[in-house]
Amino acid sequence: MKNPLSWQIATVRKIKVETPRAKSFTLELPDWTPHRAGQHYDVRLTAEDGYQAQRSYSIASEPEREGEVDLTVERIADGEVSNYMHDVLIEGDKIEVRGPIGGYFVWESSIRGPLLLVAGGSGIVPLMSMIRHRRAAQSDAPTRLLYSSRSIDDIIYRHELEALTAGKDGLAVFYTLTRSQPAGWKGFARRIDAGMLSEVAGPLGKEAQAFICGPTQLVEAAAEVLVGMGLNAGHIRTERFGPTGG
Ligand SMILES: Cc1cc2nc3c(=O)[nH]c(=O)nc-3n(C[C@H](O)[C@H](O)[C@H](O)COP(=O)(O)OP(=O)(O)OC[C@H]3O[C@@H](n4cnc5c(N)ncnc54)[C@H](O)[C@@H]3O)c2cc1C
Repeated sequence: MKNPLSWQIATVRKIKVETPRAKSFTLELPDWTPHRAGQHYDVRLTAEDGYQAQRSYSIASEPEREGEVDLTVERIADGEVSNYMHDVLIEGDKIEVRGPIGGYFVWESSIRGPLLLVAGGSGIVPLMSMIRHRRAAQSDAPTRLLYSSRSIDDIIYRHELEALTAGKDGLAVFYTLTRSQPAGWKGFARRIDAGMLSEVAGPLGKEAQAFICGPTQLVEAAAEVLVGMGLNAGHIRTERFGPTGG
């Protein structure tokens, strides 16, 4: 098996606009190895003068898809790599990547018991890999996703999540919109807090496996609440993507 830390040249097969600030990139990999849902790839850009920039991007696709992975990248204001991916990269381009990387923030369908997923913004990406893997593996583990976005247009994978919850296989999705809500909005409309988490996570019980991903501040706040609710700290896994923007 290849070393996930060696670099390879991927081909950008498809670029999909997910939201005004997020795009998904399907990368075809000459040296593909199956990942575990929750892992990431590193992307490395090299300028003509040799200057390099490297960032991590979670895998959005399920491990069952062979030969390629999807990465979903949110544009960060003044962000070096995310803006390059959004504005310069086109289908057919080559890009240097290595992975899959990470062994802690991972979920496999063989793990029994209820699953709690908490996401802020692009923190949905590795959790979507878990949700897609759950579906591909025909798992019926009771699963609840609490997903915080700024507005309805910022919800990544919204239509796919709607379709997946219509399947009635034990997946429920709860949204909170922190900056603006459309008329008649019935979901939550504030930052994730203790009341919201107990409403969403309570029915899963204290044995749930929890995965929290997003801006640092959201991740830390949610983890603290879950520990306070009596969830086993060893069952709470977190991944921080960076600062809470604004
Ligand atoms: C394990 C891991 C997985 C990740 N997966 C994803 C993913 O799936 N999708 C995704 O879009 N991002 C993901 N990220 C974040 C990503 O690696 C970059 O940090 C992000 O794209 C910004 O890089 P940049 O070069 O565009 O910005 P930079 O040039 O590094 O930063 C520009 C400015 O934005 C601030 N900033 C940096 N990162 C963030 C952030 N995440 N939120 C708000 N402000 C920020 C910086 O402090 C700086 O002020 C992941 C991070 C980690 C550690």
